[in-house]
Amino acid sequence: MSITIQAGIIASPGIRMGEAYVVAGDNTKFPKYTIKDEDAPYELLRLRSAVEKTRQDISEIREQTAQSISSEMSDIFSAHLMFLNDPLFLKQISEEITLKKRNAEWAADKISRAFVESLNAADDDYFRERIADIYDISRRVIANLQKRHTDFISGIEREVILFAHDITPSEAAIMNRQYIQALVTSQGGKTSHTAIMAKALQIPAFVGVKNITFMVKNGDTVIVDAIDGKLIINPDENEISEFGVKYKEFNERQAELTKLTSLSARTLDKKDIFIYGNIDIPQAAESIQSRGAYGIGLFRSEFLFLGDSLPDEEKQFKEYKKVVEAFNPRPVTIRTLDAGGDKILPNGKNRIELNPFLGCRAIRFSIKNKEFFKIQLRAILRASAFGNVKLMFPMISTPDELQQARTITEDVKDSLRKEGIPFDENIQVGIMIEVPSAAINADILARDADFFSVGTNDLIQYLLAVDRINEDVAHLYNHLDLSLLKILKLIVVTAAERDIPLSICGEMAGEPMYTMLLLGFGFRRFSMSPDCMPGIKRIIRSVTIAECENLAKEIMGLYNSEEIENIVRERFKNKLK
Ligand code: PEP
Ligand code: MG
Repeated sequence: MSITIQAGIIASPGIRMGEAYVVAGDNTKFPKYTIKDEDAPYELLRLRSAVEKTRQDISEIREQTAQSISSEMSDIFSAHLMFLNDPLFLKQISEEITLKKRNAEWAADKISRAFVESLNAADDDYFRERIADIYDISRRVIANLQKRHTDFISGIEREVILFAHDITPSEAAIMNRQYIQALVTSQGGKTSHTAIMAKALQIPAFVGVKNITFMVKNGDTVIVDAIDGKLIINPDENEISEFGVKYKEFNERQAELTKLTSLSARTLDKKDIFIYGNIDIPQAAESIQSRGAYGIGLFRSEFLFLGDSLPDEEKQFKEYKKVVEAFNPRPVTIRTLDAGGDKILPNGKNRIELNPFLGCRAIRFSIKNKEFFKIQLRAILRASAFGNVKLMFPMISTPDELQQARTITEDVKDSLRKEGIPFDENIQVGIMIEVPSAAINADILARDADFFSVGTNDLIQYLLAVDRINEDVAHLYNHLDLSLLKILKLIVVTAAERDIPLSICGEMAGEPMYTMLLLGFGFRRFSMSPDCMPGIKRIIRSVTIAECENLAKEIMGLYNSEEIENIVRERFKNKLK
């Protein structure tokens, strides 16, 4: 029987049909390690939140089952909940953690196995039938604890559609484009780095499809329709033939858009708009060039750090130089490492924190790990001798932080001078504006920054207090929230007053629906992943700045989110006619 799920967030558009490969349930592999004494409270906290998440998942599945199948069937899940609420089960796992110092996954697995063994030995059929339940619950708890599935993903060697609870950006980075036809995760938001990676790899993807790894089985045939937001499990003949039509249409539309490559990004009233590329994966540089971009507006240097070992100065230098030379004389804006948040470095170089997005992330991590930071700065400065490099710091939240980062940069420049190593003495040093405090203090930051680049992905997260990777609050992650629009306007006005070059490089910049509004606010430089460029160019070429300014004015006079969205969407749709 075919099942259609109308849900999730389209992270990367496209449509595919293929065989499901589910990284969860029976496939779950997990790390086993001993923890330090002081980490036990953290491990217990992890366990508690995984159990709580499992409880919510099971309750939701119970409700869905009661509605869509029968209340008898939903009783199975009531039994699961009862077991999960058994204090003995949790107590024993907690003791494994605190007394034996085992990590939570290992402890949960060990205790569930012990329960299974004791039930296996029972004479009673009823007890033996509970084994499957325990097995199911422990897999769910472990899946909720577990965030990494590297072994599975890099080992896939046939065409599949990948389903996972979550994959990290580093796992996304090693995904083999040839085999992973589409990607669906139960966790994540539209601007999570996993979603950004999927887009960069041009893999159709959904994120935030709740409980999907428990609904799809390995080997099921699935259609991922990341155009209309539909997932079809085991489609019938009609659905398969509809898929064929849509697949063809999508590819034809893409080919049409690609034709815009050679045309300029000029508005109807002849204002030139500058389109830059975001590099999230090394292969992106080529497509950015072939799409006729003006340069690189955001080189997310993280991808160099996601492998098994950290890259040394030489390796980094070579990677930067390659791109810088290829783009010369066009600018390449290299952002220093944005570790932390949802990006974990290998070998535990950055700790898992309780509030990673508010913790030792990005420039905070670099300033704290000065020697590490200096290596990256040396590599970037050395590459600046080979073309037009701009240096950019992520997540600046105070003027003091910017000064510290600049002082370290000056120290590195001094050493290079002493060593006689060439670099661009006039290299521009700018910052991401992605924390509300930086936007509000933009006038002060302008004293020490040569340019600004607005990172809406984080700006929205920090402004609205909405975790960008949490699907439970994804509905609150709103690009058209009035507070964001006001702050964007403030940044544009401050940059103009201080004569600071300004660009925008968050996902919002690559979303055609918002282009008119951003032009209306005064943005003229947009940086995005290469696949977004044709769509943005099409809008730019069909508008006048005056009509965009009018739209911005009109929107700023409103306060109802729905009304704002309706007007923005309607104007956008009119341009597609
Ligand atoms: C942003 O926050 O908008 C941004 C471009 O940076 P990242 O998505 O890498 O955090
Ligand atoms: Mg950011």
